[in-house]
Amino acid sequence: MAARIPVDEHAAFVRSLLTGLGARPSERVALADALGRITASPVESPIALPPFRNSHMDGFAVRSGDVTDAPVSLPVVGEVAAAPGVPAPLEPGTAVRIMTGAPVPDGADAVVPVEDTEPDVVADRIRVLRPRAAGEYVREAGSDLAAGDDVLPAGVRLASRHLAAAAASGLTELLVRERVRVAVVSTGSELVSPGTTLGPGEIPDANGVALVAAVRAAGALVVHEGRVRDDVERLRAEFDAAHDAGAELVLTSGGVSKGAYEVVRELLEPLGGWVGSVAMQPGGPQATGAYRGMPVIGFPGNPVSAQLSFELFVAPTLRAIAALPPAASERLELAEPLTSVPGRRQYLRGRRDDDGRAVVVGGPGSHLVAALAASDLLIVVPEDVTTLDAGAVVDTVVL
Ligand code: AMP
Ligand code: MG
Repeated sequence: MAARIPVDEHAAFVRSLLTGLGARPSERVALADALGRITASPVESPIALPPFRNSHMDGFAVRSGDVTDAPVSLPVVGEVAAAPGVPAPLEPGTAVRIMTGAPVPDGADAVVPVEDTEPDVVADRIRVLRPRAAGEYVREAGSDLAAGDDVLPAGVRLASRHLAAAAASGLTELLVRERVRVAVVSTGSELVSPGTTLGPGEIPDANGVALVAAVRAAGALVVHEGRVRDDVERLRAEFDAAHDAGAELVLTSGGVSKGAYEVVRELLEPLGGWVGSVAMQPGGPQATGAYRGMPVIGFPGNPVSAQLSFELFVAPTLRAIAALPPAASERLELAEPLTSVPGRRQYLRGRRDDDGRAVVVGGPGSHLVAALAASDLLIVVPEDVTTLDAGAVVDTVVL
């Protein structure tokens, strides 16, 4: 029997197969579609922010020199709203009522907030109760950003605040990195679409949904989804369809162990692919290869194994390309003792208890899809550790 490959060695090999995905072409997308995308280059604002000098407060635009001796009374000669148009210049010795965001008239150099005024006994006049210096409550054009300056750097993952800045700059599209185009193929004659009434021996395809979601969560794009029964020609046709859809990476589940009907093995091995065993549990059987220039990463069919394998071997590269942070890891105390098999790295499903200690959820079986859903972390037990006492400190991967 071929030796089991160490987990870190397999992870490094998969990473090396995916290095070609790192150089991303760019594409233009509408702001409405740009959330979560990565800017491909610095983004210039064609206009100044703010674009014109405007009021910071509801109040009265004045010449600061006219209010130096406040309290003073000034005639209110007009009103400027936050609305299109150019206000008339402010004559010396007068004030205009002004709203937040309204253009400050030429001649005015300060805004006195409403709070610092009171109505005069004489109609159409305002009493300014305290002086305001030149520039107070006036937002200068370009005080946030000058026209032609970069409003966003390259490589930023676009959140709502970045889209706001782009919109404020009058932009409608952004140049972003293309996402990695991924195909997800489930193998297994027992699989049916979720929701189908199950015949004897049939189960819903859980891995397809899981891997598609996990690929998206890792910032990549699913361009092809397929499900095939255990027939190598069907699988080949599915890989061809993935290629035609422009896939740059194919992920499969199932068909890589040592039974009969191991279709991924049947397809990849003659093409020089590797199908073997990694020293981990769950997720021992794994495969790597290439098909028409697309790297193929084959995961075992058991849902816990498939999901875990994606997170360990593929997600780190996709997340890095998508400028997402790596999965968090935490060191926690074990709430209870546990045992593990020698020679294999165990990833036990677990959760944090109320004291912040790690508790094992469910058994070690790689089919326990509900127990995985009830978990919020994976407890990592190293290859050379077979027993751990309560209170031992373990590494965990936060899900
Ligand atoms: P395999 O790796 O193909 O030998 O499959 C191992 C186990 O995982 C079997 O019990 C399969 O029925 C199950 N399995 C394989 N693929 C899926 C899938 N897409 N969704 C749910 N279970 C699966
Ligand atoms: Mg199978």
